[in-house]
Amino acid sequence: MVKSRIPAPRRSLLLGASALLGTSALLVACGAQGSPSALGDAAHRTASPSASTSAGPSGAAGGDPSVAARPTPGGDAETTAAPTRTPSPSASSSPTPAAPSSSPYASPSAPRTTVPAQPGPSGTPGGASHASATNVLRHTASGGRTVALTFDDGPGPATGQVLDLLAQYGAKATFCEIGDNAKTRPAAVQRILAEGHRLCDHTVDHPQPMHTQTHEQQVAEIRDAKADIERAAGGSPTITWWRAPGGDFTAENERIGADLGMKSLGWTVDPRDWSRPGVQAIVSTVQQNLRPGGVVLMHDGGGDRSQTVAALKQLLPWMVAQGYTFDFPQS
Ligand SMILES: [Zn+2]
Repeated sequence: MVKSRIPAPRRSLLLGASALLGTSALLVACGAQGSPSALGDAAHRTASPSASTSAGPSGAAGGDPSVAARPTPGGDAETTAAPTRTPSPSASSSPTPAAPSSSPYASPSAPRTTVPAQPGPSGTPGGASHASATNVLRHTASGGRTVALTFDDGPGPATGQVLDLLAQYGAKATFCEIGDNAKTRPAAVQRILAEGHRLCDHTVDHPQPMHTQTHEQQVAEIRDAKADIERAAGGSPTITWWRAPGGDFTAENERIGADLGMKSLGWTVDPRDWSRPGVQAIVSTVQQNLRPGGVVLMHDGGGDRSQTVAALKQLLPWMVAQGYTFDFPQS
């Protein structure tokens, strides 16, 4: 059976989960944004208060899938509650100043049930019933003192501002787009390509947790999003990466992506900008955790991205001053 665009129920808020990454637990809670207007959010949470990066240089981030509870269907969906609204046994609240709970898109009534990390996959890749992905890319193509900026969940209202800033600093980035959003904002998709950036498939409507979907559903999510993005681009853009919502990569969906000509794109630095932790929190997390060859995860969609834009205004000149050049991820 082929999943179609499943609106309401699928847009239900799906909760993130956690996967132990070395000594820290990564709680991923990427909200879906099934509808163009939905102020969805993506959440990539790390349990360790100070470790907003999902992983060190070795990049475990974006790797092991997280387990999430399926929320009640029809629950207001898309929106992913801010971290403070999602008490998790393994995740501590962010120490960052801004109160994510004030997030306008942190749906107050959104049902959120966090399921503790599954013992299998959390610590042992390949555990449980779904094998972990083994080929998640977490490095720039060129290596050296380069950085790959990636923006997820768009295109959205902030995409233009992000593109303006990137152009100002001559930076290139990779945009992991949601198929539904690409369909409604084709001009943004076209501008991204016209300005030399690249596109990445981030599924049709950001289902979470992805690994609990049927094989057919996952195929449809990845395949149809690629087609949506290509159509929005108006040409034949080369899309060589896909990124699972919340970094929920498994051997199964990695194979699906590979069969469609795309590799799994992870990240090494996650400033959790989706949660609006405060501009300085975003900035300092990136500054403290970026290493040469790193892949930074930020968002140009999924809700109010003003903090992301403000942080980018500081980070781009900082990266340049640090001697970084902008690159694309491995492909
Ligand atoms: Zn996302």
